[in-house]
Amino acid sequence: MRIVHTECPICSGKNLIPFLVCKDYTVSGEQFEIAYCQPCHTGLTQNIPDQASIGSYYKAESYISHSNTKAGLINRLYHYARNWMLRSKYDLVSKATHVHQGSLLDIGSGTGYFLDMMKKKQWQVKGIEADEDARKFAEQQFGLTIFPPSELTRLAEKQFDAITLWHVLEHLHELNGSWQQFGRLLKDAGTLFIAVPNHECYDAAHYKAQWAAYDVPRHLWHFSPTSIATLAQNHGFQIMEKKIMPFDPFYIALLSEKYAANSIGLIRGALHGGIALLRGLLNVDKSSSIIYVLKKKS
Ligand SMILES: [Zn+2]
Repeated sequence: MRIVHTECPICSGKNLIPFLVCKDYTVSGEQFEIAYCQPCHTGLTQNIPDQASIGSYYKAESYISHSNTKAGLINRLYHYARNWMLRSKYDLVSKATHVHQGSLLDIGSGTGYFLDMMKKKQWQVKGIEADEDARKFAEQQFGLTIFPPSELTRLAEKQFDAITLWHVLEHLHELNGSWQQFGRLLKDAGTLFIAVPNHECYDAAHYKAQWAAYDVPRHLWHFSPTSIATLAQNHGFQIMEKKIMPFDPFYIALLSEKYAANSIGLIRGALHGGIALLRGLLNVDKSSSIIYVLKKKS
């Protein structure tokens, strides 16, 4: 089944304006329209496959986040960046929670590298992951406890010091239902970490429909700082801090160059990635991706 939005789930706006038509470059080659909701600055992918049928849109040979090979320059850079980001995520989580060896739930835990890092730092960790192969890999490789998404509502309340979603919220069909669970599962002093692409950035304006972080139809929502502030407000959270992700502009620009089939894509990608990084450093709200650190309102 397909879903066509007639109302924005974030601000309930009904005036959804046609914004862009984007192609699925990694799996199906199909085109999807993105509608724009002006009051909350959010893009909504239209005609999306529902939860039961979107699985086939995740089956790509080149889906790099599941790859563990070290061949090729891009892959080597990706692995270097991943290890750097794992360490910086640990630093951020331990600093922002003011907790050592706390309890953590990673939603969309993938193959489990982040949870394994946190476990090695003596945190009590659990994961939620929709992909069965990724779940099995994380359990066998790292001995982690990973649940399918259906278990989210069954976990006991107020048990986590931290809940993390690293580039995951844009994939979730149940936006408001998920936020309700974040509030239920976090301790009162708990901290929520949400990393998402930001379509109000330099590289989105430059690459337009070929901006790799639109990634339709897997990215159901295209968030801005206003979208996340509205969601936080609606669900009793406040944003404490926003951080850039320094490798994302380069990764996104290089992929976008590939989609645009530009000549000297590596050089152009490095250049536009560099400009995008500088824009983000000057103003985090213009960064290609943003990590939002949130706490419950007391
Ligand atoms: Zn809206």
